[in-house]
Parts: sequence; structure tokens; C-alpha cells
Amino acid sequence: MRKLTILGATGSIGDSTLNVVAENPEQFSIVALVAGKNVEKMQQLCHRWQPKYAVMATAEAAQELQVLIKQSGTRTEVLYGEQAMCQVAALEEVDTVMAAIVGAAGLMPTMAAVKAGKRILLANKEALVMSGQLFINAVEQYGAELLPVDSEHNAIFQCLPTDIQTRMGRCDLDSAGVSSILLTGSGGPFRYSEIATLDTVTPQQAIAHPNWSMGPKISVDSATMMNKGLEYIEARWLFNTRREQLQVVIHPQSVIHSMVQYRDGSVLAQMGEPEMATPIAVTMNYPQRISAGVKPLDFTALSELTFLEVDYQRYPCLKLAIDACYEGQHATTSLNAANEVAVDAFLQGAIRFTDISTVNNMVLSSVCTANSSLHSHDLESLLEVDTMARRLAEQVLKEHLL
Ligand code: NDP
Repeated sequence: MRKLTILGATGSIGDSTLNVVAENPEQFSIVALVAGKNVEKMQQLCHRWQPKYAVMATAEAAQELQVLIKQSGTRTEVLYGEQAMCQVAALEEVDTVMAAIVGAAGLMPTMAAVKAGKRILLANKEALVMSGQLFINAVEQYGAELLPVDSEHNAIFQCLPTDIQTRMGRCDLDSAGVSSILLTGSGGPFRYSEIATLDTVTPQQAIAHPNWSMGPKISVDSATMMNKGLEYIEARWLFNTRREQLQVVIHPQSVIHSMVQYRDGSVLAQMGEPEMATPIAVTMNYPQRISAGVKPLDFTALSELTFLEVDYQRYPCLKLAIDACYEGQHATTSLNAANEVAVDAFLQGAIRFTDISTVNNMVLSSVCTANSSLHSHDLESLLEVDTMARRLAEQVLKEHLL
């Protein structure tokens, strides 16, 4: 039986993970659940799953949870704060950690799981975008097992040979005969909208993804295609690609979740319903396949599969992310931080949809000019870069947009 800690248990990936556990109750047990502030949902999860530990982001949230847990007679120990999250990610009795906290907040707990040599089911792409080579080095140094949950990366993973699957971050695509990786993206809800109308888009419209049901931040990122940009950077690290080996293709139907093109002209694609339970199930009991509770793909119901080139005028955030990927670690860490600040401001109704790329662009330009004074050789310096970029983004918001 696999023993799990779920980081981000109250979120969309947390839900899908627990659905897979519910499908296969004899194969998994829940040791710890971690969340931010959603006390009510955490209380329900504790009641249903009876974990040994529940960790909230703040003391206030933990206090509220403690009261509710006592009332319901659950015996879960309630903790709070980043240190406690790191502790439950590294517990001796845990072998598998679902890393699904949204944003930079996921970095330290995920890294704690890596340093404890766990099997890491990586949904939180921001951790890898922020720390790239450091993350991959730590996976190797501490003997952790890295399995990609993001549907595109999971699709690519499934289309690669087994010996490559066990060497995430250190694989040699050339020796496997791979010529390129095709990262597909739906283009989000505004792929056919007039570009001139994008500045009137509301948060409600932006989070209504046509194919996938996800948390608010990743939904906005999908609408700007910053999500594809973060995934591009994530793919660069997971699959150890060179620039010419990685391409983005728009595929509006989200039936193909990504593809691998081989030297001999073969293309392997992974397909399925747009349900995160599938890639989660692939990783949870890897290499054995388990039920994900997902209906099989009905090919007779598919009208067409189409593919388009990316229009970078429509998706400037994707272009910024690709540029940042080849600029260096300080650039991707800063872009990720700026984007979190900008998306938050957009979700709160403080800026327009199109302002997200303006903030990201201004922060990235400023960081790239200051390149020589920014260090990214250890986690502490990366966190400093992250903090500095957030400050810059706040400044851009105040001086130019609010
Ligand atoms: P949600 O917004 O639905 O959930 C986010 C989770 O993170 C919640 O459990 C939230 O807790 C928790 N959280 C937020 N801040 C903190 C914090 N400071 N400390 C601890 N926990 C915190 O997001 P998703 O589930 O959609 O996405 C999670 C991650 O997975 C993201 O990195 C996303 O990019 C990635 N991902 C998601 C996919 C999807 O289909 N949803 C697909 C591929 C990747 P609370 O709500 O209690 O505050």
C-alpha cells in the first residue's frame, strides 16, 4: 500500500487525487493533507480520509480547523506553516507526495519531499520553473523519483521509452531516437476572439476554460497561455531538451495531450478525456496501471482533431516565457513571480486581462538588464530573486496600471 501526503489537498488536483484514491482504496492510504486557508473543505477531507496530520498555511486557519475537528471527533493532528508542510512531506512513513500547492508556495514543501527521497508526483510546475537545475540536481542527489502529473508532460512521459521515464531531468533524448517534443495547448477560451477585445475580458470569462476544469490561477494562465510558457520551461527541465527539440502546437480539442516525434518519422501521441485523474493515476501506482474512474475516449463522438501554429501576438506571455527559458534561471524565477502578482491583481479586478503581459514584460525586461547582479546558485538566492521580482511587479502595478 502506498502512503501519501497530498500538498494542495483542497484544490482541483487534490480533488482528482482523492478521487483516484477512492477508486483504489486498497492501494493507498492518506497520511497527511496540506492546504492554504480553506478550513471547511479541509475539515470535510479530514472527516472522510482520517489523515494522521492536516497542515494549514496560517495559525488562524489551523485554529479554526482544530475547533471543527474536535467537534466532529476526528483524531487528526492539526499543524500550520511552511515548516510543518515540509515535515509532513518528508515523513519516514510517507513514500509518495502529490505536489499540488499552487504557485511559488509549493517550492519548499516539494523540495523537502525531494530531499527526503520520496516519489514526487509533480503538478506544481511553478516549483520547477523557479528552481530548474537546482531541483533536478536535488532529485538526483537525494534519490527521489520524479513523475510528471501535468497532462502534457505526463503524455510525453508515456510516449517515451521506459529507461527515459526513470531518468526524468537527466534523460538523453538523442540516444532514444527522439527528434522533438510537441507540447500541445488548447489556446484557452479566447483563441478565436478579436485581439482588440481582450482588454475587456472579465475574470469570470478568463477562468471558464473550454475543455479543462482547474483552479483559478492556472485557468487564467491557460487563457494568456502563460501556462503553456510555464509548461515549456517545465518540459525543458523534465526532458532535458535543447531549443530545437521543443515546440508548442495549438490543438483546440485537447484530445491529444502532447506528442513525441522520433527520428524515423514516427509520432507517438497520448490521448484521452481531458480529466486530470488519468495522468494522476498513471503516476500514483507507476508503472502499474490503475483505474482512474474516467470514461473511455469515444472516437466516434470526436468530430475533428485540428492543429494550429501559435500566434504570439495573441499570446505574448508565451513568448515571454520561451525567451525567459533561454535567458537563465533568474529570468524564469522572476517571470513566474511577476505573473503570480499580475494574475492575482487581475482576479481581484484591479487590472485588465491584457495588463498581465504588460506587468510580466516590464519585470522581465528590468530583470534581464540587471542580470549580472542576480544570483541563482542556491534556494535562498532564488527566493531573493522571487521576492525582488514580486516587489518590481507591485511597483509596475502602482506606477503604471492601478
Ligand atoms: P487550486 O487553486 O484548485 O488549488 C490550489 C491548492 O493550493 C489548494 O489546496 C490551496 O489551498 C493550496 N494553497 C494555496 N496557497 C497555499 C499555501 N500558501 N500553502 C499551502 N497550500 C496552499 O489549483 P489547482 O489544483 O488547479 O493547481 C495546483 C497546481 O497544480 C498548480 O501549480 C497548477 O499549475 C498545477 N496543475 C493543475 C492542473 C489542473 O488541472 N488543475 C493541471 C496541471 C497542473 P486552499 O484552497 O485551502 O487555500
